[in-house]
Amino acid sequence: MATANQFIKPLTTKINENGNLEIGGCDLVNLADKYATPLYVIDEFTLRSICKDYKSAFAKYPKSQMMYASKALCSLATTAIIAQEGFGFDVVSGGEIYTVHKAGADMSKVLFNGHNKSYDELCMALDVNVGRISVDNFFELSLLDEIAKSKNKNVNILLRITPGIECHTHEYIQTGHLDCKFGFDLTQIDEVIDLLLTEYTNLHLVGLHAHVGSQIFESSIYADEIEILIKEISRVDEKFGLKLSEINIGGGLGVKYVDTDCPPSVVEIAEVIIQKLYETTEKYGVELPTLILEPGRSIISTSGVTLYTIGSSKQVPRATKYVSVDGGMADNLRPAMYQAEYCAQIANKPEIDDTLQKVTIAGKFCESGDILIKNIELPNPEEGDILCVYNTGAYNYSMASNYNKAPRPAMVLVNNSQSDIIVNRETYEDLISHETIPNGLKEQ
Ligand SMILES: *Cc1c(COP(=O)(O)O)cnc(C)c1O
Repeated sequence: MATANQFIKPLTTKINENGNLEIGGCDLVNLADKYATPLYVIDEFTLRSICKDYKSAFAKYPKSQMMYASKALCSLATTAIIAQEGFGFDVVSGGEIYTVHKAGADMSKVLFNGHNKSYDELCMALDVNVGRISVDNFFELSLLDEIAKSKNKNVNILLRITPGIECHTHEYIQTGHLDCKFGFDLTQIDEVIDLLLTEYTNLHLVGLHAHVGSQIFESSIYADEIEILIKEISRVDEKFGLKLSEINIGGGLGVKYVDTDCPPSVVEIAEVIIQKLYETTEKYGVELPTLILEPGRSIISTSGVTLYTIGSSKQVPRATKYVSVDGGMADNLRPAMYQAEYCAQIANKPEIDDTLQKVTIAGKFCESGDILIKNIELPNPEEGDILCVYNTGAYNYSMASNYNKAPRPAMVLVNNSQSDIIVNRETYEDLISHETIPNGLKEQ
């Protein structure tokens, strides 16, 4: 069974009777008209559908908890939807803790990650009773124990480890290789446990955590990771008599941005993961642990698209034709940051005809690197057309900036022919709302 991460477009995408693209029963040209562009659109059906796929694929395993990696896109409405689907949340900052808490998430199903959590963020995590903290390094162990003691609380922790697995993805989104900034080396675990047993007595170690990278296309990476984690759990049990009952194998499942991307389905990775868990627990003689997964991109990416209005064009003589849109790297940093690729269609003329032209979609921001899509074929793109860029749900809004003093776009949720604003467009007033001119300057 195919799952949403294997599709470029939201599952409800079609061409309607006006000849326009529609998603969630909403005509994209009407959405652009009503809410202006650039506009992020999230299809609720696609989002819920992949959440359900994760849950049903892992239902065969007796103990599992899905925790959506909020950093992919963290908003009140999307958090509320994902929480309704039974997910917990992986959070990496005070801002994400605040948002998921305000959205009404069950905080016992929240895991706080990160390799340089601040004193204030850890205090906040304890105050709102997040269920787990993934401890990344020795400094954090001591800091967290100190805070836990001062608040007279016991804290359940996982240890973030670097399993030494490299995956074939961009260097910036690899995280599991040995020489990386995240987590403990396997050789440091004994020292950590000694400290937990003697000094850091308010920290209760429940399991191990690893995350090897993002946009992963090989299911075998999860199997390799499980082998390492279960072996380690067995070693810790033998040496310390300490039974670790949870393994968190991170997120990372890939999505299909362009035709050549072939990510496995959620069902396929679930089969590999579950089989490997049975096999290794048997081999190393440990009890089946609770399995935690932290998918981010694969949950939210496909449900999101971005609408832009096409403005000026430039035909470089005997070279590229640049077609510019009213957004770019401030609302989607990924192409500029790591050469990410995207697909797009023109919402008001989605059908392919004999006017097809090969063009490059340029963002409007003042950087030559602000190119959204290189060499895409579109039917005669003209000023005023609405361009729909697919698969922008993950790491677009969450990485958005105000570069060139651009207000961040609005986001709408679509479902059953209804659209609702879930993030308001920033105004020019918002842009200066945190700024002041010191009195001394005003007098000059
Ligand atoms: C980023 C991250 C995730 C989510 O990764 P995706 O590729 O978006 O699924 C999960 N866990 C950790 C620790 C991360 O850093």
